[in-house]
Amino acid sequence: MAAPDRMDRVVNLAKRRGLVFPSSEIYGGFRSTWDYGPLGVLLKRNVKDAWWRSMVQMRDDVVGLDSAILMTPRVWEASGHVATFTDPLVDCRNCKERFRADQLPDSGACPNCGVKESFTEARHFNLMFKTFVGPVEDDASVAYLRPETAQGIFVNFPNVQTTTRKKPPFGIAQIGKSFRNEITPGNFVYRTREFEQMEMEFFVPPEDGARWFEYWCEERLRWYVDLGIPEDQLRLRPHETDELSHYSAGTADVEFRYPWGWGELEGIANRTDYDLTQHATFSGQDLSYYDQEHDRRYVPHVIEPAAGADRATLAFLLAAYDEEEVPDAKGGTDRRTVLRLDPRLAPVKVAVLPLSKHEQLVPLATEVADMLRPHFMIDVDAAGSIGKRYRRQDEVGTPLCVTVDFESVDDRAVTVRDRDTMAQYRVAIPELLALLRERLG
Ligand code: ATP
Repeated sequence: MAAPDRMDRVVNLAKRRGLVFPSSEIYGGFRSTWDYGPLGVLLKRNVKDAWWRSMVQMRDDVVGLDSAILMTPRVWEASGHVATFTDPLVDCRNCKERFRADQLPDSGACPNCGVKESFTEARHFNLMFKTFVGPVEDDASVAYLRPETAQGIFVNFPNVQTTTRKKPPFGIAQIGKSFRNEITPGNFVYRTREFEQMEMEFFVPPEDGARWFEYWCEERLRWYVDLGIPEDQLRLRPHETDELSHYSAGTADVEFRYPWGWGELEGIANRTDYDLTQHATFSGQDLSYYDQEHDRRYVPHVIEPAAGADRATLAFLLAAYDEEEVPDAKGGTDRRTVLRLDPRLAPVKVAVLPLSKHEQLVPLATEVADMLRPHFMIDVDAAGSIGKRYRRQDEVGTPLCVTVDFESVDDRAVTVRDRDTMAQYRVAIPELLALLRERLG
């Protein structure tokens, strides 16, 4: 399938099946903002849960945090965001459209109206959303919506370190909303002004920074592959020296081959001791660590894998989207759409389908559904032909369907149908839960 088609079809499927809706849609939408619908919220939550499981639960050297979105503006002065978190903004003098100067085509033509050399001089535009805290709107009450979750981690370094008694190397992980007043949001949920980040700051002895940077690059790439993105659609792109932030001793992006080209999924940076040193200076607090074993004091260096939950969700959707010809019941062929999502990411794990709404089948289907509900996210669907219902589950990636038919009433067995192979097999109801658990991994 051609790449632009894939994007259109995924966006269309997302809207049609309640994965992602345009925000404020009844008012005509609102500037590239999106709402995750009943299936989308499950998918994105599964992405975040998979990240949390691999970054926090499965490790004894990383702990979690949930810091506030609003922080004192001093934080953003210390971090450098007030002074330098800017994009170069240009206006087209002809059509008045605004663009990022670093994203203009080489031709010099306006991407909107096509007029050449019509741009104003670039000026710095700060991407932080400003607001006021309290009833008075003056300079003293200015606050910013955080543009990254990382700073909430840095300022809590001493709190977390002393309460958990972790010693470097150790990390602090956080998932949460961030806000950037992007000049040109777009490509669906790829670039929005409100988005969710999954960030981890890993504090290490200064001499170990380079080694841990390599480690996290490999580890993070592996995470996407493990959850089903084919390796040839992923790459690790080290930043050129002129791309590096002033404090970075190395940055690499995990990139995904989006339909419009390679795009960043996640940035992995060696931030050195920059952030802790800045916050120590601005706050007047000592943020160094005393290493008792070697009787020395140092400011830890930080390796940061920073991922976006929305970009990852979109990448998993795009990689999973498939259309294929399959045999139909009448000996012909039929076309089906199937989301080949890893079962861990699938919004619904099991669909329970009574063959019809017949009074003998519905109570048994309800019994089966009630048995499974505490263990998996399930869906019960009794409307329409069974073939159509299988297709509806396929296109939202439900790995397994359980069909209750008239024989089930006598033999207390059901048919389990596999999304990818479409193979069907009969399973006794008392053995169903164990089998589904095994199949779902
Ligand atoms: P880009 O170059 O695409 O603007 P960035 O390098 O500024 O991204 P980081 O500051 O490294 O991004 O943020 C870490 C991650 O947060 C990104 O890899 C991305 O997944 C996510 N992210 C950043 N900005 C946005 C956005 N506007 N919309 C959605 N996700 C975002």
